[in-house]
Amino acid sequence: MEDLRRRFPAKKNGEISNVAVALPPPRKASDALPLPLYLTNTFFLALFFATVYFLLSRWREKIRNSTPLHVVDLSEICSLIGFVASFIYLLGFCGIDFIFRSSSDDDVWVNDGMIPCGQSLDCREILPIKPNSVDPPRVSDLDSVEDEEIVKSVIDGIIPSYSLETKLGDCKRAAAIRREAVQRITGKSLTGLPLEGFDYNSILGQCCEMPVGYVQIPVGIAGPLLLDGIEYSVPMATTEGCLVASTNRGFKAIHLSGGAFSVLMKDAMTRAPVVRFPSARRAALVMFYLQDPANFERLSLIFNKSSRFARLQSITCKIAGRNLYPRFSCSTGDAMGMNMVSKGVQNVLDFVKSEFPDMDVIGISGNYCSDKKASAVNWIEGRGKHVVCEAFIKAEIVEKVLKTSVEALVELNTLKNLAGSAMAGSLGGFNAHASNIVSAVFIATGQDPAQNVESSHCITLIEAEGNDLHISVSMPCIEVGTVGGGTQLASQSACLNLLGVKGSNNEEPGSNAQQLARIVAGSVLAGELSLMSAIAAGQLVKSHMKYNRSSRDIGPSSQVNNR
Ligand code: ADP
Repeated sequence: MEDLRRRFPAKKNGEISNVAVALPPPRKASDALPLPLYLTNTFFLALFFATVYFLLSRWREKIRNSTPLHVVDLSEICSLIGFVASFIYLLGFCGIDFIFRSSSDDDVWVNDGMIPCGQSLDCREILPIKPNSVDPPRVSDLDSVEDEEIVKSVIDGIIPSYSLETKLGDCKRAAAIRREAVQRITGKSLTGLPLEGFDYNSILGQCCEMPVGYVQIPVGIAGPLLLDGIEYSVPMATTEGCLVASTNRGFKAIHLSGGAFSVLMKDAMTRAPVVRFPSARRAALVMFYLQDPANFERLSLIFNKSSRFARLQSITCKIAGRNLYPRFSCSTGDAMGMNMVSKGVQNVLDFVKSEFPDMDVIGISGNYCSDKKASAVNWIEGRGKHVVCEAFIKAEIVEKVLKTSVEALVELNTLKNLAGSAMAGSLGGFNAHASNIVSAVFIATGQDPAQNVESSHCITLIEAEGNDLHISVSMPCIEVGTVGGGTQLASQSACLNLLGVKGSNNEEPGSNAQQLARIVAGSVLAGELSLMSAIAAGQLVKSHMKYNRSSRDIGPSSQVNNR
């Protein structure tokens, strides 16, 4: 295939106009009036016959009066113009169009009643478009006739959609063309999904393939979170109403009580391949070899070659018959570390294979890692950062800010987060809504949202401490990074910057990511405190009403005092 960069060179700066000027589909003469088609047709038909009748009658009159035909008055000039206009319009019925679109500001994208069927999408039939499509008219994002040709090539399957960035050398232009092709192929409008205002170069080869736009998620700020003596304004990307406000209330209660405190217990990303041997005995032999402390130094030297930040911490193995699952744990600096640990594991596997040639590497991931799946191994052994975060909340803050009581919170936590979760057979879900806060902070700061699964593993404990309350969250699998992946994108990077943990920490590599994990845990602590309080307050009222312990006590303030 001819190089598209030669055929359709990338536009220079300033050459790309914000006003789309794509040509096809061509505008019909029937678009000349802003009326429904049947009215436009009627209008031009009537105009045609009226002007013909008028001009012929004037012509006959002039012949009778011996007036020269070329002497015309104003009414005849107007009639002639009307005649020419209606004639041009009526030629459209014969497929001859004289009016073409010069601007796509009011471009209606479906013009023929048919969707072009792209080979690349393996269409089985050409789909008719309903005349009264629900999709509104839209503005084309194309910039030139060249782009229009490329769109057609993509639709026809001549140019693979995935290759547009490479071939054009212009990521934004590639996204606009792909977007147009997708809309025409599917017959669905992407109006509402923005194209402009995003740096498509920043995601190339790293974050997202075949982009056609980006989804907007609002970011709210909750805080300040007073954590280990430092205040943080926490960005939360969410579309769930109340979440930011509720977390904010938790932050307030924590702040007024002297703040939260965190401990980082462990920092190790894991990867566990699955390897097979001819027999269970051979698998066991390699297991003992990998777990033998005498071999650790040698193996860690091989593992650590993968990156200056990867440092092997341990290898723990599980056997299933003749299959072995060695779980490698390593620190990964400020990166979340999945790529880093995978490279290290590959290095070790290559070495072990040379020592034990009968080892068959089935997969670099054997699910004993365990990535993006709820699993006991993560819950027990931890994955990523293991953080415990606690706060002592004064009784008066519980009553004034959280509108409940210490006893109510302790009781609810036992019955809901402990007993209730046990009844549900929960795995790491001994909490009220840790994943709400984890997801919102993850999305705002460019973490992998799919790792919310294990990162949200959390046990929330609420206990009475004298008259006051002690609350803690223990989260063994917070998988976060401040370099790599989505963290380098502009919006996410800004949120990391707000927290003071943007990028690599050069003085103490890894401390930015660890700090982010502590902030996640602190935010979860606030979220738990606030939601549990809301539930406790609501349940208390209902409980009073149901059991009629003391109907006179049911009220906003008395409900607390009478527990
Ligand atoms: P992940 O392993 O989380 O998927 P990457 O594959 O993007 O992340 O690896 C992180 C990259 O960032 C590596 O190339 C690493 O050398 C680089 N890097 C720079 N500074 C740091 C740091 N402080 N900690 C970890 N990695 C860093």
